[in-house]
Amino acid sequence: MNILSYLMESRGPINAMHRLPKIAQRFGVSPAKIERALDKFVSISERYGCTPTLTVTAAVLARNARFFHRLQERAELAVHGYVHTDYSLLSEAEQAEHMERALAAFHHAGISPSGFRCPYFRWNVDSVKVAARAGLKYGSNGVVAWDVVPEESVQRQAWHAYQKGLRLYDAHWSAERLNLPWLVDGILLDIPASLPDDEAIVDRLGLGKTRGRDEIWPRMLERIYDEGELFTLSLHNERVPICAAGLDAVLERARRLSPPVWVAPMREIADWWQRRAQWRLSVNDCGDGTFRVIAPAEEDVTVLGRGLGGEAPGPHWFAGYRQLRAGTSLVHSEKPPVIEVEDRSSPALVSFLEGEGFAVTRTPGGGGVRIEGYESFGESDKRPVLDLIEGTSAPLVRLWRWPNGARAALAITGDIDSMTLIDFFRRPFEV
Ligand SMILES: [Zn+2]
Repeated sequence: MNILSYLMESRGPINAMHRLPKIAQRFGVSPAKIERALDKFVSISERYGCTPTLTVTAAVLARNARFFHRLQERAELAVHGYVHTDYSLLSEAEQAEHMERALAAFHHAGISPSGFRCPYFRWNVDSVKVAARAGLKYGSNGVVAWDVVPEESVQRQAWHAYQKGLRLYDAHWSAERLNLPWLVDGILLDIPASLPDDEAIVDRLGLGKTRGRDEIWPRMLERIYDEGELFTLSLHNERVPICAAGLDAVLERARRLSPPVWVAPMREIADWWQRRAQWRLSVNDCGDGTFRVIAPAEEDVTVLGRGLGGEAPGPHWFAGYRQLRAGTSLVHSEKPPVIEVEDRSSPALVSFLEGEGFAVTRTPGGGGVRIEGYESFGESDKRPVLDLIEGTSAPLVRLWRWPNGARAALAITGDIDSMTLIDFFRRPFEV
Protein backbone atom coordinates (compact mmCIF):
# COMPACT_ATOMS: atom_id res chain seq x y z
CA MET A 1 0.00 0.00 0.00
CA ASN A 2 1.52 3.33 -0.90
CA ILE A 3 1.62 6.23 1.52
CA LEU A 4 -1.40 8.01 0.02
CA SER A 5 -3.78 5.07 -0.04
CA TYR A 6 -2.53 4.09 3.41
CA LEU A 7 -3.50 7.46 4.87
CA MET A 8 -6.78 7.72 3.00
CA GLU A 9 -7.94 4.19 3.67
CA SER A 10 -6.91 3.92 7.25
CA ARG A 11 -8.10 7.04 9.00
CA GLY A 12 -7.53 9.98 6.63
CA PRO A 13 -4.63 12.44 6.43
CA ILE A 14 -6.12 15.01 8.86
CA ASN A 15 -6.80 12.35 11.44
CA ALA A 16 -3.27 11.04 10.92
CA MET A 17 -1.86 14.52 11.62
CA HIS A 18 -3.99 14.83 14.77
CA ARG A 19 -2.77 11.45 15.92
CA LEU A 20 0.90 12.36 15.72
CA PRO A 21 1.28 13.44 19.39
CA LYS A 22 -0.60 10.32 20.51
CA ILE A 23 1.59 8.08 18.37
CA ALA A 24 4.74 9.74 19.71
CA GLN A 25 3.48 9.05 23.24
CA ARG A 26 2.73 5.37 22.58
CA PHE A 27 6.06 4.45 20.98
CA GLY A 28 9.61 5.27 21.99
CA VAL A 29 12.74 5.82 19.93
CA SER A 30 14.07 2.52 21.30
CA PRO A 31 11.90 -0.63 21.59
CA ALA A 32 11.96 -0.49 25.43
CA LYS A 33 8.51 1.06 25.80
CA ILE A 34 6.82 -1.50 23.56
CA GLU A 35 8.79 -4.36 25.13
CA ARG A 36 7.34 -3.28 28.50
CA ALA A 37 3.85 -3.07 26.99
CA LEU A 38 4.18 -6.59 25.56
CA ASP A 39 5.47 -7.88 28.88
CA LYS A 40 2.39 -6.42 30.56
CA PHE A 41 0.09 -7.90 27.89
CA VAL A 42 1.59 -11.38 28.33
CA SER A 43 1.79 -11.10 32.14
CA ILE A 44 -1.92 -10.28 32.45
CA SER A 45 -2.74 -13.23 30.17
CA GLU A 46 -0.46 -15.57 32.15
CA ARG A 47 -2.21 -14.63 35.38
CA TYR A 48 -5.28 -16.38 33.94
CA GLY A 49 -3.37 -19.31 32.44
CA CYS A 50 -3.80 -17.86 28.97
CA THR A 51 -1.25 -18.00 26.14
CA PRO A 52 -1.90 -15.13 23.72
CA THR A 53 -1.27 -15.28 19.97
CA LEU A 54 0.76 -12.34 18.71
CA THR A 55 1.07 -11.83 14.97
CA VAL A 56 4.25 -9.97 14.06
CA THR A 57 5.29 -8.17 10.88
CA ALA A 58 8.36 -10.19 9.85
CA ALA A 59 10.56 -7.18 9.00
CA VAL A 60 9.95 -5.89 12.56
CA LEU A 61 10.63 -9.35 13.99
CA ALA A 62 13.92 -9.53 12.04
CA ARG A 63 15.07 -6.24 13.61
CA ASN A 64 14.23 -7.59 17.10
CA ALA A 65 15.03 -11.27 16.64
CA ARG A 66 16.39 -11.94 20.14
CA PHE A 67 13.43 -10.31 21.85
CA PHE A 68 10.93 -12.37 19.85
CA HIS A 69 12.92 -15.55 20.26
CA ARG A 70 12.45 -15.13 24.02
CA LEU A 71 8.83 -14.03 23.70
CA GLN A 72 7.80 -17.26 21.95
CA GLU A 73 8.16 -19.07 25.28
CA ARG A 74 5.24 -17.02 26.60
CA ALA A 75 3.16 -16.43 23.46
CA GLU A 76 2.33 -18.06 20.16
CA LEU A 77 3.91 -15.95 17.40
CA ALA A 78 2.34 -15.83 13.93
CA VAL A 79 2.96 -13.94 10.69
CA HIS A 80 1.56 -10.43 10.12
CA GLY A 81 2.98 -9.85 6.63
CA TYR A 82 6.60 -9.50 5.69
CA VAL A 83 5.94 -5.75 5.73
CA HIS A 84 2.79 -3.94 6.83
CA THR A 85 1.16 -3.60 3.45
CA ASP A 86 -2.19 -4.33 1.80
CA TYR A 87 -1.71 -7.87 0.49
CA SER A 88 -5.03 -7.86 -1.36
CA LEU A 89 -3.36 -5.54 -3.88
CA LEU A 90 -0.41 -7.86 -4.58
CA SER A 91 -0.29 -10.66 -7.15
CA GLU A 92 -0.07 -14.28 -6.03
CA ALA A 93 3.61 -14.39 -7.04
CA GLU A 94 4.37 -11.24 -5.03
CA GLN A 95 2.49 -12.58 -2.01
CA ALA A 96 4.42 -15.85 -2.30
CA GLU A 97 7.71 -13.96 -2.31
CA HIS A 98 6.70 -11.95 0.77
CA MET A 99 5.62 -15.12 2.57
CA GLU A 100 8.93 -16.79 1.78
CA ARG A 101 10.85 -13.81 3.16
CA ALA A 102 8.59 -13.65 6.21
CA LEU A 103 9.07 -17.33 7.04
CA ALA A 104 12.83 -17.01 6.50
CA ALA A 105 12.89 -14.18 9.08
CA PHE A 106 10.85 -16.25 11.55
CA HIS A 107 13.01 -19.35 11.08
CA HIS A 108 16.16 -17.26 11.38
CA ALA A 109 14.89 -16.16 14.80
CA GLY A 110 14.20 -19.81 15.70
CA ILE A 111 10.42 -19.49 15.47
CA SER A 112 8.06 -21.81 13.52
CA PRO A 113 4.75 -20.03 13.02
CA SER A 114 1.50 -21.95 12.39
CA GLY A 115 -0.73 -19.07 11.30
CA PHE A 116 -0.97 -15.67 9.68
CA ARG A 117 -3.07 -12.52 9.76
CA CYS A 118 -2.81 -9.98 6.95
CA PRO A 119 -2.20 -6.32 7.86
CA TYR A 120 -5.50 -4.34 7.95
CA PHE A 121 -7.25 -7.74 7.55
CA ARG A 122 -6.74 -7.11 3.80
CA TRP A 123 -6.43 -10.41 1.96
CA ASN A 124 -7.69 -12.40 -0.99
CA VAL A 125 -7.89 -16.06 -1.96
CA ASP A 126 -4.28 -15.90 -3.22
CA SER A 127 -3.15 -14.98 0.31
CA VAL A 128 -4.79 -18.16 1.59
CA LYS A 129 -3.35 -20.34 -1.19
CA VAL A 130 0.13 -18.95 -0.54
CA ALA A 131 -0.15 -19.57 3.21
CA ALA A 132 -1.41 -23.13 2.73
CA ARG A 133 1.41 -23.91 0.28
CA ALA A 134 3.90 -22.50 2.78
CA GLY A 135 2.66 -25.05 5.31
CA LEU A 136 0.73 -22.72 7.61
CA LYS A 137 -2.23 -24.28 9.43
CA TYR A 138 -4.61 -21.35 9.74
CA GLY A 139 -5.31 -17.72 8.95
CA SER A 140 -7.12 -15.08 10.99
CA ASN A 141 -8.42 -12.69 8.38
CA GLY A 142 -12.19 -12.73 8.60
CA VAL A 143 -13.77 -10.09 10.86
CA VAL A 144 -17.06 -10.26 12.76
CA ALA A 145 -18.38 -7.10 14.41
CA TRP A 146 -20.59 -7.32 17.52
CA ASP A 147 -23.01 -4.47 18.25
CA VAL A 148 -21.91 -3.85 21.81
CA VAL A 149 -21.45 -0.08 21.42
CA PRO A 150 -24.74 1.62 20.48
CA GLU A 151 -24.48 4.18 17.68
CA GLU A 152 -26.21 6.84 19.80
CA SER A 153 -23.64 6.48 22.59
CA VAL A 154 -20.77 7.90 20.51
CA GLN A 155 -20.21 11.05 18.47
CA ARG A 156 -21.34 11.01 14.85
CA GLN A 157 -17.84 11.44 13.51
CA ALA A 158 -16.61 8.57 15.68
CA TRP A 159 -19.35 6.27 14.42
CA HIS A 160 -18.43 7.25 10.88
CA ALA A 161 -14.75 6.41 11.53
CA TYR A 162 -15.78 3.03 12.95
CA GLN A 163 -17.93 2.22 9.90
CA LYS A 164 -15.01 3.16 7.68
CA GLY A 165 -12.83 0.69 9.55
CA LEU A 166 -15.44 -2.06 9.15
CA ARG A 167 -15.49 -1.44 5.39
CA LEU A 168 -11.69 -1.45 5.20
CA TYR A 169 -11.63 -4.84 6.96
CA ASP A 170 -14.59 -6.19 4.97
CA ALA A 171 -16.22 -6.98 8.34
CA HIS A 172 -19.58 -8.70 8.76
CA TRP A 173 -22.02 -7.98 11.57
CA SER A 174 -22.61 -10.89 13.92
CA ALA A 175 -26.30 -11.00 12.90
CA GLU A 176 -25.28 -12.33 9.51
CA ARG A 177 -22.09 -14.26 10.30
CA LEU A 178 -21.17 -16.78 12.98
CA ASN A 179 -17.97 -15.97 14.84
CA LEU A 180 -16.56 -19.45 14.28
CA PRO A 181 -13.61 -20.94 12.38
CA TRP A 182 -14.45 -21.54 8.71
CA LEU A 183 -12.72 -23.18 5.78
CA VAL A 184 -11.81 -20.65 3.06
CA ASP A 185 -12.55 -22.18 -0.36
CA GLY A 186 -11.76 -25.62 1.04
CA ILE A 187 -8.12 -24.53 1.35
CA LEU A 188 -7.30 -23.26 4.84
CA LEU A 189 -9.05 -22.70 8.14
CA ASP A 190 -9.75 -19.09 9.11
CA ILE A 191 -10.26 -17.92 12.69
CA PRO A 192 -12.20 -14.65 12.41
CA ALA A 193 -11.31 -11.73 14.65
CA SER A 194 -14.02 -10.08 16.74
CA LEU A 195 -14.62 -6.34 16.73
CA PRO A 196 -14.48 -3.84 18.31
CA ASP A 197 -10.76 -4.26 18.99
CA ASP A 198 -8.61 -1.76 20.90
CA GLU A 199 -8.09 0.37 17.81
CA ALA A 200 -11.83 0.65 17.18
CA ILE A 201 -12.59 1.37 20.85
CA VAL A 202 -9.86 3.97 21.39
CA ASP A 203 -9.01 5.60 18.06
CA ARG A 204 -12.20 5.20 16.03
CA LEU A 205 -15.07 5.20 18.56
CA GLY A 206 -13.18 7.63 20.81
CA LEU A 207 -13.96 5.68 24.02
CA GLY A 208 -10.37 5.52 25.32
CA LYS A 209 -11.09 7.84 28.26
CA THR A 210 -14.67 6.91 29.05
CA ARG A 211 -15.78 4.99 32.12
CA GLY A 212 -17.43 2.20 30.13
CA ARG A 213 -14.24 1.44 28.16
CA ASP A 214 -13.18 -1.58 30.23
CA GLU A 215 -16.67 -3.10 30.17
CA ILE A 216 -16.93 -3.40 26.37
CA TRP A 217 -14.99 -6.66 26.06
CA PRO A 218 -16.64 -8.40 29.06
CA ARG A 219 -20.02 -7.44 27.52
CA MET A 220 -18.91 -8.87 24.18
CA LEU A 221 -17.80 -12.07 25.91
CA GLU A 222 -21.25 -12.48 27.45
CA ARG A 223 -22.94 -12.06 24.07
CA ILE A 224 -20.57 -14.52 22.39
CA TYR A 225 -20.89 -16.95 25.32
CA ASP A 226 -24.67 -16.92 24.95
CA GLU A 227 -24.25 -17.88 21.31
CA GLY A 228 -21.55 -20.46 22.12
CA GLU A 229 -19.12 -18.93 19.63
CA LEU A 230 -15.51 -17.75 19.59
CA PHE A 231 -14.27 -14.40 20.85
CA THR A 232 -11.02 -13.55 19.07
CA LEU A 233 -10.03 -10.47 21.02
CA SER A 234 -7.43 -8.25 19.42
CA LEU A 235 -5.21 -5.79 21.28
CA HIS A 236 -2.28 -3.91 19.71
CA ASN A 237 0.87 -3.52 21.79
CA GLU A 238 0.82 0.29 21.61
CA ARG A 239 -2.58 0.50 23.32
CA VAL A 240 -1.82 -1.95 26.14
CA PRO A 241 -1.48 0.87 28.71
CA ILE A 242 -4.99 2.11 27.77
CA CYS A 243 -6.69 -1.30 27.44
CA ALA A 244 -4.91 -3.41 30.10
CA ALA A 245 -7.84 -3.13 32.54
CA GLY A 246 -10.25 -4.23 29.81
CA LEU A 247 -8.06 -7.26 29.05
CA ASP A 248 -7.92 -8.14 32.74
CA ALA A 249 -11.69 -7.71 33.07
CA VAL A 250 -12.55 -10.00 30.15
CA LEU A 251 -10.21 -12.76 31.36
CA GLU A 252 -11.63 -12.44 34.87
CA ARG A 253 -15.20 -12.71 33.50
CA ALA A 254 -14.19 -15.73 31.41
CA ARG A 255 -12.79 -17.46 34.50
CA ARG A 256 -16.05 -17.04 36.42
CA LEU A 257 -18.40 -18.45 33.80
CA SER A 258 -19.80 -21.96 34.15
CA PRO A 259 -19.88 -24.00 31.94
CA PRO A 260 -16.37 -22.76 31.27
CA VAL A 261 -14.87 -20.67 28.50
CA TRP A 262 -12.02 -22.38 26.67
CA VAL A 263 -9.18 -19.86 26.56
CA ALA A 264 -6.53 -20.92 24.04
CA PRO A 265 -4.03 -19.62 21.50
CA MET A 266 -5.19 -19.66 17.88
CA ARG A 267 -2.99 -22.64 16.89
CA GLU A 268 -4.77 -24.83 19.49
CA ILE A 269 -8.17 -23.62 18.33
CA ALA A 270 -7.20 -24.47 14.72
CA ASP A 271 -5.99 -27.95 15.78
CA TRP A 272 -9.17 -28.64 17.70
CA TRP A 273 -11.43 -27.43 14.90
CA GLN A 274 -9.63 -29.64 12.40
CA ARG A 275 -9.96 -32.71 14.59
CA ARG A 276 -13.60 -31.96 15.28
CA ALA A 277 -14.34 -31.50 11.57
CA GLN A 278 -13.67 -35.25 11.09
CA TRP A 279 -16.32 -36.26 13.59
CA ARG A 280 -19.97 -37.04 12.93
CA LEU A 281 -22.72 -37.96 15.34
CA SER A 282 -25.04 -40.82 14.47
CA VAL A 283 -28.31 -41.83 16.07
CA ASN A 284 -29.85 -45.28 15.50
CA ASP A 285 -33.46 -46.07 16.33
CA CYS A 286 -33.53 -49.26 18.44
CA GLY A 287 -37.34 -49.24 18.79
CA ASP A 288 -39.52 -48.63 21.87
CA GLY A 289 -38.30 -45.07 22.14
CA THR A 290 -34.68 -46.15 22.61
CA PHE A 291 -31.92 -44.61 20.51
CA ARG A 292 -28.27 -45.47 20.28
CA VAL A 293 -26.16 -42.29 20.16
CA ILE A 294 -22.73 -42.90 18.63
CA ALA A 295 -20.25 -40.13 19.33
CA PRO A 296 -16.46 -40.23 19.01
CA ALA A 297 -14.86 -41.96 21.99
CA GLU A 298 -12.49 -39.03 22.57
CA GLU A 299 -11.74 -37.82 26.04
CA ASP A 300 -12.22 -34.12 25.29
CA VAL A 301 -15.34 -34.34 23.10
CA THR A 302 -18.48 -32.56 24.39
CA VAL A 303 -21.68 -34.53 23.69
CA LEU A 304 -24.96 -32.83 24.54
CA GLY A 305 -28.57 -33.95 24.81
CA ARG A 306 -31.88 -32.40 25.79
CA GLY A 307 -35.34 -33.77 26.48
CA LEU A 308 -34.01 -37.31 26.99
CA GLY A 309 -34.67 -40.04 29.55
CA GLY A 310 -32.89 -43.27 30.37
CA GLU A 311 -29.33 -43.84 31.42
CA ALA A 312 -27.93 -40.91 29.53
CA PRO A 313 -28.73 -37.63 31.30
CA GLY A 314 -25.57 -36.29 32.86
CA PRO A 315 -25.04 -33.00 34.67
CA HIS A 316 -26.97 -29.94 33.58
CA TRP A 317 -24.96 -27.94 31.06
CA PHE A 318 -26.56 -24.88 29.43
CA ALA A 319 -29.94 -23.85 27.98
CA GLY A 320 -31.72 -27.12 28.76
CA TYR A 321 -28.88 -29.36 27.55
CA ARG A 322 -27.13 -31.98 29.62
CA GLN A 323 -23.75 -33.47 28.95
CA LEU A 324 -23.73 -37.08 27.71
CA ARG A 325 -20.71 -39.30 27.91
CA ALA A 326 -18.35 -39.73 24.95
CA GLY A 327 -18.58 -42.87 22.80
CA THR A 328 -21.81 -44.85 22.54
CA SER A 329 -24.80 -44.40 24.83
CA LEU A 330 -28.45 -45.44 24.86
CA VAL A 331 -31.06 -42.75 25.44
CA HIS A 332 -34.84 -42.77 25.74
CA SER A 333 -36.76 -40.20 23.81
CA GLU A 334 -40.37 -39.71 22.70
CA LYS A 335 -39.11 -38.50 19.31
CA PRO A 336 -35.91 -39.14 17.36
CA PRO A 337 -33.35 -36.62 18.69
CA VAL A 338 -32.26 -35.66 15.17
CA ILE A 339 -32.79 -32.92 12.58
CA GLU A 340 -34.99 -33.69 9.62
CA VAL A 341 -34.55 -31.83 6.31
CA GLU A 342 -36.47 -32.10 3.05
CA ASP A 343 -35.32 -33.93 -0.06
CA ARG A 344 -35.11 -30.63 -1.91
CA SER A 345 -33.04 -28.93 0.83
CA SER A 346 -29.56 -27.83 -0.18
CA PRO A 347 -26.63 -30.19 0.55
CA ALA A 348 -24.95 -27.08 2.00
CA LEU A 349 -27.64 -27.01 4.71
CA VAL A 350 -26.98 -30.68 5.54
CA SER A 351 -23.22 -30.28 5.71
CA PHE A 352 -23.60 -27.17 7.89
CA LEU A 353 -25.88 -29.02 10.33
CA GLU A 354 -23.60 -32.05 10.44
CA GLY A 355 -20.62 -29.76 10.94
CA GLU A 356 -22.55 -28.20 13.84
CA GLY A 357 -22.70 -31.66 15.37
CA PHE A 358 -26.31 -32.69 14.69
CA ALA A 359 -27.47 -36.03 13.31
CA VAL A 360 -29.39 -35.22 10.11
CA THR A 361 -31.92 -37.31 8.22
CA ARG A 362 -33.82 -36.73 4.99
CA THR A 363 -36.59 -39.14 6.00
CA PRO A 364 -39.78 -37.10 6.08
CA GLY A 365 -42.27 -37.56 8.90
CA GLY A 366 -39.79 -39.33 11.14
CA GLY A 367 -40.62 -37.03 14.03
CA GLY A 368 -37.27 -35.22 14.39
CA VAL A 369 -36.81 -31.44 14.48
CA ARG A 370 -38.00 -30.44 11.03
CA ILE A 371 -36.37 -27.77 8.87
CA GLU A 372 -38.27 -26.93 5.73
CA GLY A 373 -37.05 -25.28 2.56
CA TYR A 374 -33.54 -23.88 2.07
CA GLU A 375 -33.12 -25.11 -1.49
CA SER A 376 -30.22 -22.72 -1.45
CA PHE A 377 -28.28 -22.11 1.74
CA GLY A 378 -25.70 -19.40 2.42
CA GLU A 379 -23.67 -17.81 5.19
CA SER A 380 -26.48 -15.47 6.33
CA ASP A 381 -28.91 -18.42 6.73
CA LYS A 382 -26.79 -20.09 9.41
CA ARG A 383 -27.83 -18.04 12.42
CA PRO A 384 -31.59 -18.12 11.63
CA VAL A 385 -31.45 -21.93 11.22
CA LEU A 386 -29.68 -22.35 14.57
CA ASP A 387 -32.16 -19.98 16.23
CA LEU A 388 -34.99 -22.09 14.80
CA ILE A 389 -33.48 -25.28 16.26
CA GLU A 390 -32.76 -23.75 19.66
CA GLY A 391 -36.25 -22.17 19.67
CA THR A 392 -37.90 -25.61 19.81
CA SER A 393 -37.86 -27.79 22.91
CA ALA A 394 -37.85 -31.08 21.00
CA PRO A 395 -35.41 -33.82 22.08
CA LEU A 396 -32.02 -33.45 20.43
CA VAL A 397 -28.45 -34.69 20.68
CA ARG A 398 -25.44 -32.82 19.46
CA LEU A 399 -21.64 -32.83 19.35
CA TRP A 400 -20.79 -29.44 20.74
CA ARG A 401 -18.31 -27.00 19.18
CA TRP A 402 -15.76 -26.84 21.99
CA PRO A 403 -13.79 -29.38 24.03
CA ASN A 404 -14.20 -30.46 27.67
CA GLY A 405 -17.68 -29.04 28.15
CA ALA A 406 -16.71 -25.44 27.32
CA ARG A 407 -19.62 -23.24 26.27
CA ALA A 408 -17.53 -20.80 24.22
CA ALA A 409 -13.92 -20.07 23.30
CA LEU A 410 -11.70 -17.05 23.79
CA ALA A 411 -8.43 -16.32 21.96
CA ILE A 412 -6.40 -13.32 23.09
CA THR A 413 -4.52 -11.96 20.08
CA GLY A 414 -2.57 -8.88 19.06
CA ASP A 415 -0.76 -7.58 16.00
CA ILE A 416 2.74 -6.18 16.31
CA ASP A 417 3.37 -3.77 13.42
CA SER A 418 5.98 -1.55 15.07
CA MET A 419 8.33 -1.70 18.04
CA THR A 420 9.57 1.89 17.76
CA LEU A 421 8.50 5.28 16.49
CA ILE A 422 10.84 4.73 13.53
CA ASP A 423 9.13 1.41 12.70
CA PHE A 424 5.80 3.20 12.81
CA PHE A 425 6.78 5.90 10.35
CA ARG A 426 8.65 3.63 7.95
CA ARG A 427 5.66 1.26 7.81
CA PRO A 428 3.84 2.86 4.86
CA PHE A 429 7.06 3.09 2.84
CA GLU A 430 7.89 -0.62 3.14
CA VAL A 431 6.24 -2.41 0.24
ZN1 LIG B 1 -1.25 -4.48 11.69
